Amino acid sequence: MKRFFIRGLTVLFTLLILFGGITLHTVIQSQANGQLINYVGIVRGAAQRLVKLELADKPNDELIQYLDDIINELVSGDGPYGLPTPQDSTYQENLKILDRMWKQIKGGVSAYRNEETGGDALLLLSEAYFIQANDTVFAAEAYSNRQTHVLLTVCIVMLVIMLLTWVFILFAFSKNLLSLEKSNKKLSDLARRDTLTGVYLIDTFKEKAQQLLDDLPGERFAVLYTDFADFKYINDVFGYAYGDNVLSHYGDILRAGLRQNELCGRVSADNFVLLLRYEDRAEIVSRQRQADKQIRGFMHDSCDGQWLSTCCGICCVEDISEDLKIDVLLDRANFARKTVKTGTRQNYVYYDESIRTRLREEKDIENRMQTALERREFTVYYQPKVDLRTGKIGGAEALVRWQTQDDTVIGPDRFIPVFERKFMIAQLDQFVLEEVCRWLRRQLDAGKRVLPVSVNVSRLQFYDQNFVERYVEIRERYQIPPQLLEIEFTETIAVENTSLLVATVNKLKRAGFSCAIDDFGKGYSSLSLLKSLPIDTLKVDGFFFSEGADRERDMAVVQGVIDLVKKFRVNTVAEGVEHAEQVEYLRKIGCDFIQGYVFYRPMPKGEYEKLLDDGK
Ligand code: C2E
Ligand code: CA
Ligand code: CA
Repeated sequence: MKRFFIRGLTVLFTLLILFGGITLHTVIQSQANGQLINYVGIVRGAAQRLVKLELADKPNDELIQYLDDIINELVSGDGPYGLPTPQDSTYQENLKILDRMWKQIKGGVSAYRNEETGGDALLLLSEAYFIQANDTVFAAEAYSNRQTHVLLTVCIVMLVIMLLTWVFILFAFSKNLLSLEKSNKKLSDLARRDTLTGVYLIDTFKEKAQQLLDDLPGERFAVLYTDFADFKYINDVFGYAYGDNVLSHYGDILRAGLRQNELCGRVSADNFVLLLRYEDRAEIVSRQRQADKQIRGFMHDSCDGQWLSTCCGICCVEDISEDLKIDVLLDRANFARKTVKTGTRQNYVYYDESIRTRLREEKDIENRMQTALERREFTVYYQPKVDLRTGKIGGAEALVRWQTQDDTVIGPDRFIPVFERKFMIAQLDQFVLEEVCRWLRRQLDAGKRVLPVSVNVSRLQFYDQNFVERYVEIRERYQIPPQLLEIEFTETIAVENTSLLVATVNKLKRAGFSCAIDDFGKGYSSLSLLKSLPIDTLKVDGFFFSEGADRERDMAVVQGVIDLVKKFRVNTVAEGVEHAEQVEYLRKIGCDFIQGYVFYRPMPKGEYEKLLDDGK
């Protein structure tokens, strides 16, 4: 392409020089031709005048000389006037005749002067000469016209060639530019894609998606936020290389499914986002279901028949009342994704009004939680645990409540997740521990009856290296005997980091805290883990005692668990027990404590104090 381009330019340059030369030549030539016609015209007119003067007896030899000079120069090309001598046969013939006739006129003039002939003969000669001179002028004119014609044609042809060359260069140049731009575009597009999966990096996705939303305002777009359930499992069990392989394959599947004006991006490890267009909503789910089916098939075939389920939150533009901002759509799709309940078949959730209300509530909580902590709007409720051997209260669990300024009490399920997300849960947990310690101190100082209290600790605190030290510091500040405090935590952290869980529990034990595993049976409970954890208490989740549970099977599981942990001298607490017959059964199978509505609901500390005072 470059070679053509240079050649084109050379041709154009040569043509330009030629064109300039020819144009100059044309100008000079037409000037010379004009002069020639002019002088032939003079020869014609001056001879007439000469004859007239002769006949009027006013001979003019200067005029004869003048005409002689001109005619000589016209014929020979040599003379003072710089006249051209065109090699045109018609003109040359006419000129020859004219020259001959001029000589005859000169002869006629001298004969007239010598009175050898009369004026009539001279006049006759002059008329014949005039006609010949006229013909010569015409021949010169015709010659000049022809010349101009030829030069003009050459100029036009050259102009056309130049124009064509120019068009060619322009075409080649723009083609070159276009292909350059194309490859530039391709390169920059590649740079903006995730190397592993080939989909857009999230910033590029956002930028492009926003552009589409702005450019196609009437279009029905949906933003999808997808996630694999427990992708860590794949990485841990089958290795990172295989995990990468799955993600890269998923990227291929998602990209292959895209239509015009649709996009795909990757947010983080196993989270992908899509911008799809739709006619009706069902179409979105069916397309995504299809893609997910493909990746499950891939995992199934390449991973010993194992696969992970996927979940997906969807936010349609028509469900958004405010400005269409991609960040908002992504947040909402992500929010919908988080509401997907694992283990159900509802893997695709649309963002809707109820989610919106929850979102608003959470935002409200988020805005108020810092000041609420400072204003000490949180209080601690106590839910007694009944010792099944004695039938008396054997301790209590501290459960936090948010008592807002307008006296509404908000339950922890609504605000704990927000505190966890905003990494403020440690502050709240410590606040609860301190409230409990303060209350125990007061009870102790007043010489009243005290029983152990358990406090909940979020799994996020286990990632804080100073967590145990901080708890010891609070306990010692209030000088609470260690046996009065128990720490409850869930074992979900074991899925993320088993060794961290074991190390922290050991540290807590060394610091004198009792330790309890909470919500056993709710999630990924593992009996084998219990062997490596030096815990004091196991709290069996209320799920086993709820309505609709498969009573016989669940009770068999509970019995099995109780039998097993008894061997490790671990106390058992059954949570969420609401019916008297369950109490009897639990007593029979050797459960130590019951914490449930069947005996007591969580209550403010005043009420709990009263129960203790009454010796319950
Ligand atoms: P949890 O630790 O499993 O606490 C027991 C929950 O079961 C309490 O709910 C309690 O009121 C409820 N419950 C007890 N007996 C029954 C019953 O017979 N039937 C029914 N349906 N429910 C019963 P609550 O107080 O709403 O607390 C919910 C969760 O919030 C707690 O579950 C715990 O995970 C968390 N939480 C509460 N306080 C704190 C805290 O100070 N820090 C942390 N990190 N989490 C807390
Ligand atoms: Ca608990
Ligand atoms: Ca529990």
